[in-house]
Amino acid sequence: MIADLLSIVKISIFQPRCKLCDNILVSRDEKIICNECKSKIRINLEPVCKKCGKLLHIDGNLCGECLINPPIFRKHISYSIYEGEIRDLILLYKYLEIEKLKKLIASYYIELFYKKVDEEFDFIIPVPSDDGRKREYDHILEVSKTLSKELGIKISPYNLTKIKRTLPQAGLSMRKRLNNLNGAFKLNDPVEISKKKILLIDDVYTTGTTVKKCAKLMKREKADVVVLTLARST
Ligand SMILES: [Zn+2]
Ligand SMILES: [Zn+2]
Repeated sequence: MIADLLSIVKISIFQPRCKLCDNILVSRDEKIICNECKSKIRINLEPVCKKCGKLLHIDGNLCGECLINPPIFRKHISYSIYEGEIRDLILLYKYLEIEKLKKLIASYYIELFYKKVDEEFDFIIPVPSDDGRKREYDHILEVSKTLSKELGIKISPYNLTKIKRTLPQAGLSMRKRLNNLNGAFKLNDPVEISKKKILLIDDVYTTGTTVKKCAKLMKREKADVVVLTLARST
């Protein structure tokens, strides 16, 4: 009886739990997050704007905003909408810096790449993820290194750098977002990317201000930029 009780206590204390829903991980292949949570993360295959990747209610070409004021990059595409399990997973990887999640995160970019992009690129370039706090683990750089290996595209990890401390973009108005990132990025070697095809990697696309600032620098060098993110706000 006591042994039974002890084993139950031991199981509940020492069994690893899903970091998203807190359920006990029962299957051998479940690591960090459970299979049920994983199954809820699915690629969005609904019609999107061919330029900015925004969800369209009917299958069409471009959204109203891109018709009037097209973004500087050639196209942006997201794996999913920033909500539920994928949002929690992104936050988990970003803030708890769980290295073991890198492979899973990378698998979503890879699926997205083959389903919706699948073309040749000269370089993968990660968006510098420093948002004012010094990070030991640059989550976008690390996942980009995996993508470079898996997709067979060269990575240029340190060409695009952040040279100004900025406030976190989340919670700022559109105007403040733009001002916040003024002069924040720099290309250390513009010649390297001149007239090249660039796959720019970021995690979340909210208003697109960050990737637009980065793409603007690259466009000056006549680079052709396609942006890949895990999730967009709508
Ligand atoms: Zn779970
Ligand atoms: Zn659009």
